[in-house]
Amino acid sequence: MTNETSANQPPTPPTSNRVSSPSIPALMLVSTPIGNLADFSPRAREALCAASAILCEDTRTSAVLLRAHGITTRTFALHEHNESARIPELLAAMQAGQHFALISDAGTPLVSDPGYRLTRAAIEAGLSVSGIPGPNAAVLALTLSGLPPQPFLFAGFTPPKSGPRRSALQACRAAEMAGLSATLIFYEAPHRLAAFLADAAAIFGPRPAAVARELTKHFEEVRRAPLDELAAHYSTHEARGEICVVIGPAPAESASAQTLEDALRTALATLSVKDAAAAVATALGLPRKQVYQTALALARPTP
Ligand code: SAM
Repeated sequence: MTNETSANQPPTPPTSNRVSSPSIPALMLVSTPIGNLADFSPRAREALCAASAILCEDTRTSAVLLRAHGITTRTFALHEHNESARIPELLAAMQAGQHFALISDAGTPLVSDPGYRLTRAAIEAGLSVSGIPGPNAAVLALTLSGLPPQPFLFAGFTPPKSGPRRSALQACRAAEMAGLSATLIFYEAPHRLAAFLADAAAIFGPRPAAVARELTKHFEEVRRAPLDELAAHYSTHEARGEICVVIGPAPAESASAQTLEDALRTALATLSVKDAAAAVATALGLPRKQVYQTALALARPTP
């Protein structure tokens, strides 16, 4: 498993204009369970059976799932350390008519998992890419958290060391100070949860949050509480298993009057008063009526 930093590089749009066709994809991104083997969909099974080969993050881990579902397709490893090197031969094989399915150890491939570089290369090469949707820990944690489901920002893993981790969290806070109002979702390892929550509570304050553990598994648990209470709890209770942390959006008052006016001026340059007010109210988490009044005042011609 990996925290794919390459997925964070700013992408330029793929140059190929060819539309992905779901009928005979050269590359099929297949979601697999995040703990409960019964969450494997019939379409996912069909796609893995039909593929020329399955590209697995770890062939031994995937063997358990494939055996449980009677899938005998040959497997190859495609992980953080060999993905880039394998791209040319995989593209050549797809161009020659092979169809690959891509899976990771758990959940949706590419999401904090390998596959982004190959997928991007396949799109660039004009090959068809499709996917079988399915389990994803971040989205399940978000929906179970009781926090606003949209907008959300999936941040994946933060760096393991405290200094860089705080910088990553500070960057989220800075985005909030500039107007972002979104529920934040993080992946975290159990042995780092207490330190992560302590840093997060220091940076974001006591806002509503949730720790979702072992989702879809026997010991599934979602603990919902203010961030500082979660930090205090996990400072004395060792966390076990797989974990997502969901943090509620910045409270509305963090959007200053100046931030509101700046956001509205930008929006009013291209949108009607009504649409600008709606867009900015959603982005800043402010009441629509209040934002509409400010938008009206800004849009009114000066005498
Ligand atoms: N691709 C996967 C997905 O779609 O969710 C995520 C892979 S990432 C390498 C693994 C991390 O996802 C874990 O360390 C944990 O933070 C989170 N995760 C995976 N399964 C989980 C589960 N059952 N419950 C809670 N979090 C989980």
